[in-house]
Amino acid sequence: MAAALTGGCLCGGVRFEVTEPPVSAGYCHCTRCQRRTGTAASAQARLAPGALRIAAGEELVASFRPPDGFAKEFCSRCGSALWSRSPDDPAVVGVRLGAFDRDPGVRPSYRQFVAYAAPWEPIPDDGLPRFPERRTA
Ligand SMILES: [Zn+2]
Ligand SMILES: [Zn+2]
Repeated sequence: MAAALTGGCLCGGVRFEVTEPPVSAGYCHCTRCQRRTGTAASAQARLAPGALRIAAGEELVASFRPPDGFAKEFCSRCGSALWSRSPDDPAVVGVRLGAFDRDPGVRPSYRQFVAYAAPWEPIPDDGLPRFPERRTA
């Protein structure tokens, strides 16, 4: 069996392990992701339900719960965005690709909420399907 896919936050307080290969990945250009990450888009991987295991620093993980949509979980010590969590099923998470220690294998295959894309960075002409709002397929 291959070594577990691991990751963590910038300060190293939060460490996690992913027990199954990520299911899919994509870029989110929504305004919330821009705020949360300070970048034009957030690259994130959807995991199989229950595949995320917090190995260390669970007490450091803070959560911002918008009135709708996924909760944004981050390290309360260094502020690193870690993953989002479904309000309907807490086992469903989307991990920020930058939080992984090594190549998570999966590649972003779509861009969503491009209607809200940052005006200061053109969307790369990478051939990925673009969705004005949430990805529908
Ligand atoms: Zn941290
Ligand atoms: Zn987003």
